[in-house]
Amino acid sequence: MAQRQEDLEEALLYDRYLEALARYGPPAREESPSPGHVVRYCHGCGMRAMFRLDPEGTWYECLHCQHYA
Ligand SMILES: [Zn+2]
Repeated sequence: MAQRQEDLEEALLYDRYLEALARYGPPAREESPSPGHVVRYCHGCGMRAMFRLDPEGTWYECLHCQHYA
């Protein structure tokens, strides 16, 4: 009956996943980048691109074309 118990736990996890999905929306991706990153329009390559804050914290660098903004 171990198998059945595992299935039950998996179903519960999946239920919780669906619940979280309904409550918070799908897992955050480029709309909420990690710290030091921001999504913005790049005038260098004309795309909405991920920018990374440079080590000095002054400029954002486009990860597509290395344009600084
Ligand atoms: Zn760019």
